[in-house]
Amino acid sequence: MPVVDVAVPVPLKQSFSYLHDTPVATGVRVKVPFGNRTLIGVVIGNIETQTEDTGLTLKSVIEVLDEVPLFDPTLITLANWLAKYYHHPIGEVWSTLMPVRLRKGMPLTDKLDAFTLTEAGQDALEQSLVRGKKQQLCLASLADEPVEEGEIKQRFSPAVIKALSEKALIQTVRIKQEIQTDWASYTLQETTPVASTEQAVAIAGVNQNGTEFRTFLLEGVTGSGKTEVYLQVIAPVLKANRQVLILVPEIGLTPQTVGRFERRFGIKVGVLHSQMSDLARLQVWQQSRRGELGIVIGTRSAIFTPMVRPGMIIVDEEHDESFKQQDGLRYHARDLAVKRAQTENVPLLLGSATPSLESLNNALAKRYTHLQLSERAGGASHTQLKVLDSRDQPLQAGIAPGLLSVMRSHLQQGNQVLVFLNRRGYAPAVLCHHCGQTVDCKSCERPFTYHKSQGRLQCHHCGASKRMPNQCSACHSTSLQTSGLGTEQLEQGLGELFPDIKQVRIDSDAVRGKDALVTRLDEINARKYQLLIGTQILSKGHHFPHVTLVVVLDCDGALFSADFRAPEKFAQLITQLAGRAGRATKPGEMYIQTDNPGHPLLQELIHNGFAHFARHALHERKMANLPPYSAQAVIRAEANAAQQVHTFLQQVKQAFSDHSHQFGGYIAGPLPCLIEKRQGRFRFMLLLQCSQRAALHNWIASTLRQVQSLPLATRVRWSLDIDPVDF
Ligand code: ADP
Ligand code: ZN
Ligand code: ZN
Repeated sequence: MPVVDVAVPVPLKQSFSYLHDTPVATGVRVKVPFGNRTLIGVVIGNIETQTEDTGLTLKSVIEVLDEVPLFDPTLITLANWLAKYYHHPIGEVWSTLMPVRLRKGMPLTDKLDAFTLTEAGQDALEQSLVRGKKQQLCLASLADEPVEEGEIKQRFSPAVIKALSEKALIQTVRIKQEIQTDWASYTLQETTPVASTEQAVAIAGVNQNGTEFRTFLLEGVTGSGKTEVYLQVIAPVLKANRQVLILVPEIGLTPQTVGRFERRFGIKVGVLHSQMSDLARLQVWQQSRRGELGIVIGTRSAIFTPMVRPGMIIVDEEHDESFKQQDGLRYHARDLAVKRAQTENVPLLLGSATPSLESLNNALAKRYTHLQLSERAGGASHTQLKVLDSRDQPLQAGIAPGLLSVMRSHLQQGNQVLVFLNRRGYAPAVLCHHCGQTVDCKSCERPFTYHKSQGRLQCHHCGASKRMPNQCSACHSTSLQTSGLGTEQLEQGLGELFPDIKQVRIDSDAVRGKDALVTRLDEINARKYQLLIGTQILSKGHHFPHVTLVVVLDCDGALFSADFRAPEKFAQLITQLAGRAGRATKPGEMYIQTDNPGHPLLQELIHNGFAHFARHALHERKMANLPPYSAQAVIRAEANAAQQVHTFLQQVKQAFSDHSHQFGGYIAGPLPCLIEKRQGRFRFMLLLQCSQRAALHNWIASTLRQVQSLPLATRVRWSLDIDPVDF
């Protein structure tokens, strides 16, 4: 009997063999027995037939779920690579890789269920016989042709659908889905701007490479027209009837971005992000798999989207941290993009104004083709960076008088000013004026943040929240005071200082959900507000043509972080923020207010810019033998008892040191994580490092089993993170 090799969603490294009376193609989902459960797995290989009696009795596949393979050989290769590279159970890799509905075993066919009007429904619509407005709308949406069930269910409540069905005004039918692949014959919908010399060199550089795998790093200053380069580079790819997959950071995926691609080519662009329904995501996944979409734009997990005719992969803002998954399978979508492009044998374009040191190093070492845009597009000038010394200054709303007058003059000229403060809430701490005690979250041992509008305290580590107390829990004094500045307080303070100026606050409290953010961004560009106050959200990729001044408040914490990547992250943030100003005809400037004006990192950025900083930082990393000149992995562990975590990691350390000499491995720790305690659990980590990546992998592969069999391994919560980006 044929034996199939199945990746089953269990936390075990291996795949499992099952019998089936006929061979099953790889890439097909099957329902299989596992212990006393029934699970959905993916066939990842066929083992000959079971020839001799091995003494093992294999169980049989319960049901074959797909007529044709859902996953092509490239995705199977990719999954195997992920399991190996991240030392992650193959079945769980597949769970991550599959759209949720497929994971649950839901059917996927080319036929789909749709709603259509019955004759009675047609009459009811024409004569407006139904009362409910929603019901009327639902009928109207079916007036011309059947509409897919999922779409109707998204737009109308179950009650509406039920009512119409019961009155026999609508019914379901099965329709054969038509496959539309006419996007390759697009006609440009707008005139293509004439590329600058630098852009033209970059475009030619990519397109003359041909259709084969190669990685390009497009290092282009903010506003230099990287998106324009993508647009011109993909035009011939689409014409050749090949699909393009574009990854963007979570916050960067707005209708603004998608709109630019749709407007240029006039074709439907598939969009994938985490806030979509499972059904909507599966539809885009399926359309791409069938070749119905020429362009798919998505966030991190979109890297798993199947393409029947792949032509190119682009990762925009490739340095962005949202490309790294921080739980479960901790993959980096940019690194995976390299692997995917290589497997598919298509070009990969990584773009950023502030490339990660990893990618920059690959470009400088000529493993990637390095393309550079040093000038802003359309004649816009570079933003001038300045440092403002806030020592001994009488601050108002947290801002020094000199800076307030700079703001005033920009505002008076009718321009927009962006004030950046990476701390939401009213104040980052509440303390007792009598005894000095701060009001802390008990389970994280960190001060609560005060949110004035809600009258509540919130822990920004674990999300715990409680009412603002009336008195100090230690001395019962009622003189509790807030300490420090958050965006909520900044908004209030600036409102008092600039009463005639319309302002808007953009942070995750004030703006909830993607739609709200998009609305605010549109309003900003329609000049509804002049003063923009915000956190990280405002730093990413948005195009603000009317902003001429960016003010950065309170960045001193970032200058003194223990994380060796902190300078890189800080430089990226500052450079991206500066990139929000002066993007159109008006020149822009940026002030960084600090108590440490002489800090070497600030000085370097101001005088020499990111590109110079990055090359210098690479040199330092090399001297210190840090990534990208070495490879790291982190084992994190957490439990309610600190001692237990510590003991576990000591044992893990012992296991690793037993093998370290073979691989030249270096171990540090156990060290407390940067956030030492969260939700009552103590968090520690062990750092593993080797000069050679392969050595690190072999070291882990030969030790992990021993770690897994430690008695404490089942009692503490622990994880392995390959190429960690934070600690
Ligand atoms: P980036 O992606 O590097 O931030 P964009 O592609 O968004 O830059 O370009 C910034 C602005 O310059 C956009 O408004 C864009 O339309 C415009 N632009 C880009 N390239 C050109 C060009 N060659 N000629 C004129 N305008 C351009
Ligand atoms: Zn007190
Ligand atoms: Zn907490």
